[in-house]
Amino acid sequence: MNTALSRSVLIIGGSRGIGAALVKRFTSAGDRVHFTYAHSADAANALAATTGSTALQADSADRRSIERAIAEAAERSGPLDVLIVNAGVLLSGDPLTLDPEAVDHLFTVNIHAPYHAAIAAARVMSNAGRIIFIGSTNADRTPMSGLAAYGTSKAALQGMAKGLARDFGPREITVNVIQPGPTDTEMNPADGPLHQAMHSFMAIKRHAHADEIAAMAAWIAGPEAGIVTGAALTIDGGFAA
Ligand code: NDP
Repeated sequence: MNTALSRSVLIIGGSRGIGAALVKRFTSAGDRVHFTYAHSADAANALAATTGSTALQADSADRRSIERAIAEAAERSGPLDVLIVNAGVLLSGDPLTLDPEAVDHLFTVNIHAPYHAAIAAARVMSNAGRIIFIGSTNADRTPMSGLAAYGTSKAALQGMAKGLARDFGPREITVNVIQPGPTDTEMNPADGPLHQAMHSFMAIKRHAHADEIAAMAAWIAGPEAGIVTGAALTIDGGFAA
């Protein structure tokens, strides 16, 4: 891990929502931040301009595209100190009628991409680096119908973090999952149609702000969390309590 103030940070999926909050948090800390996006070029370019970060177009559905982005970030900023895989898609509905192509796409973006990104990043990561997956409290609790594929994909990240924590532990690289609950983004607006149902499952009945999720990531990425690995850290207002 680079203990200098400026770390080399790559965020997979940083153009909007929680990803954009991550970009702002790490650039504010003085880090050299690259982030990927797939579709939101205008939002990505605006964010890069205002934060001094670098936007890279890379669709998480394409493994080679992610690998290229990781190589480019490491080439420009030096060995990675922090990788955060935030990009994810949500699909909900009756599993009997959901488009199987869309389900496969969800599994590719939410499961395959984090795995391949973590492996590619570990090849160019400094010792004591940090790998963080953005999962979901739905890995542990899915109290609504129609979320089986999404919940499956987020549960997979728990096994991924546990296994990779063992693989990379000898280099003191930590691998963890952050599991947000309802968080106010375009994916899940605080005033969306299901907000009351979601809040009914929570001890603290509000959506999180994206910067609250980014704050947990900043702590895991920091020097005080060097012994935290293979863990799922839930930040969900008690949704899964
Ligand atoms: P948003 O839909 O608001 O933003 C998603 C981000 O991921 C965008 O920056 C988007 O970039 C990027 N992304 C999506 N697909 C791809 C892709 N194929 N390749 C590259 N980037 C991609 O979602 P949130 O910010 O709400 O969610 C972020 C993460 O947090 C996800 O993994 C989600 O599952 C998880 N989460 C969210 C919760 C919530 O309530 N909001 C709760 C629990 C977990 P672009 O627009 O450029 O495609």
